[in-house]
Amino acid sequence: MDILIHNTGWIEAICGPMFSGKSEELIRRLRRATIARKRIQVFKPAIDTRYSASEIVTHNDNRMTCDPVPSATAILKCLDWRVQAVGIDECNFFGTELVEIATQLADSGKQVIVAGLDTDYLGRPFPPMPDLLAIAESITKTLAVCMKCGNPAKHTQRLVESNDLIFVGAAEAYEARCRRCFEPGIPSQEVLDFGKHPSKQKLGRD
Ligand SMILES: [Zn+2]
Repeated sequence: MDILIHNTGWIEAICGPMFSGKSEELIRRLRRATIARKRIQVFKPAIDTRYSASEIVTHNDNRMTCDPVPSATAILKCLDWRVQAVGIDECNFFGTELVEIATQLADSGKQVIVAGLDTDYLGRPFPPMPDLLAIAESITKTLAVCMKCGNPAKHTQRLVESNDLIFVGAAEAYEARCRRCFEPGIPSQEVLDFGKHPSKQKLGRD
């Protein structure tokens, strides 16, 4: 980030599918900010209680204390305005109002690091990340490993039956898939067999 000038805020976006290390990268950058003696504050949506209510927890069990907030506007209310770096995880749960909030934070001189899914379970651009990418100074796209073939994976495959855009879950409900192995929508119930790998599941009973 050599191009950045002191006392100017900016937005760094980290996007990619689940299991690609987005939260890991967010925590790494926030720890670096701490080493640089910056005051930091981290937010995540209160809806996300998968691993912990008051921490960001990566799939590798790397943890960082955070403030859970019910909405994007609540970030401004809960913000300690002395902080110089603001981390926001799981942006896809906050909706499009996060774009304005992130802009306000950056305009007020803060380093803003946002992390979230860039596509939804059908492979569509997932708001607000597309807009955040457009207004960010820097973008990192993380890739996972396809659970079917091992290729770099950019998709989040939903494994359970739900047509809700937001369905909070971890490894029991989602896996990473590459472009070729991704199946938009939900795999049919008969190939799911709750937890077993779909490709190894024998169909029917004959
Ligand atoms: Zn694959």
